[in-house]
Amino acid sequence: MTPPLLSPSELTALTRLRYALHAAPEISGAEVATATHLRDFLAPTGPDRVVEGLGGAGLALVFDSGKAGPRVMFRAELDGLPITEQTGLPYASRRAGVAHLCGHDGHMAILAGLGLWLSRNRPARGQVILLFQPAEETGEGARAVLADPRFAQLRPDWAFALHNMPGLALGEVAVAAGGASCASCGLRLRVTGRESHAAHPEAGQSPAPVLEAVLAGLSVYTLPPPMGRDFRLVTLCHLSMGQPAFGIAPGQAEIWLTLRAYDDQRLAAFEAEIMALITRAAQGLTLQVSRHDAFHATINAAAAADQVVAACAALGVARGAFELPMRASEDFGAFSAQTRTALFFLGAGERQPALHRPDYDFPDALIAPAVALYAQIATQILGGVAGPGGVA
Ligand SMILES: [Zn+2]
Ligand SMILES: [Zn+2]
Repeated sequence: MTPPLLSPSELTALTRLRYALHAAPEISGAEVATATHLRDFLAPTGPDRVVEGLGGAGLALVFDSGKAGPRVMFRAELDGLPITEQTGLPYASRRAGVAHLCGHDGHMAILAGLGLWLSRNRPARGQVILLFQPAEETGEGARAVLADPRFAQLRPDWAFALHNMPGLALGEVAVAAGGASCASCGLRLRVTGRESHAAHPEAGQSPAPVLEAVLAGLSVYTLPPPMGRDFRLVTLCHLSMGQPAFGIAPGQAEIWLTLRAYDDQRLAAFEAEIMALITRAAQGLTLQVSRHDAFHATINAAAAADQVVAACAALGVARGAFELPMRASEDFGAFSAQTRTALFFLGAGERQPALHRPDYDFPDALIAPAVALYAQIATQILGGVAGPGGVA
């Protein structure tokens, strides 16, 4: 097949779509208007099935050949971040304190571009599923989509996702079998003693020694080993104790930690080790621990990673060096346990501000090549396309 191409007017439409989504971002779990916008944009492409409200605000479009064959899913994320944008761009966020600073607006435009291509290149067999997934940033969306009974009807045999990556040369692809992103979870520790007058601290029970012991114990984990199966890292994210008053000896403290490890099993073992340390440190005081923002590791199936590698080779896309798995987590990992998945990274440029920074913006130059990669992967797996109307 010839490499898939979008017309200049389609590319303009996709760029405008990105700007519109960028200007009206919605936080995790509240992406209703974003999903509606995409549904309306893609209605003219004639998907065979549309599933709305999937796992919250999720949207799935199915391009079904009506013939037996693999089901290939491609995923983009719907959510922005609760951060104030500082790009000064004409299409900058118009919503105070919310912005697309992870490039999910670009990922949505890419998936919409695949929809435009599919409207002219229907699968000859099997199905292509476009999944616009909610709540990636909190780690809840993929799980909610998987738990939605309607997802069982989609049952993809393959699932692919990309994430743009500042630091990697523009347009280069980093992909490998095995770990693509680390498992992680947040731990919120509440230590409760007893307040007292600052003149009589011995009459109370201060959590300060507990904090001291926890921080001392954690210090060996804050400088991680090199990336690999033994990678583990604790990041101290937040700390508070007592009141901002000179007359009171504290009775309460909170510590927020994020734990990371290579995969889910190693994270569970690491968490048990950290919990033992904390429990030892908290002797005599009341300790409450809650778990937040839990992400599965994303583990790429060799066969799925091979499809990405083959698509790069077919399209002449350069492969870039990038340490894998990335330390950060991606909730696409929740799909890894269910089907053959590959998450790959697409270079956003070496000088691009990092993801989640207030001055970050997605590079438009990635839209066309990313659509071409997705279309190539679909074509490889589905063995060619049927042309308009879906007739083989
Ligand atoms: Zn993000
Ligand atoms: Zn992201």
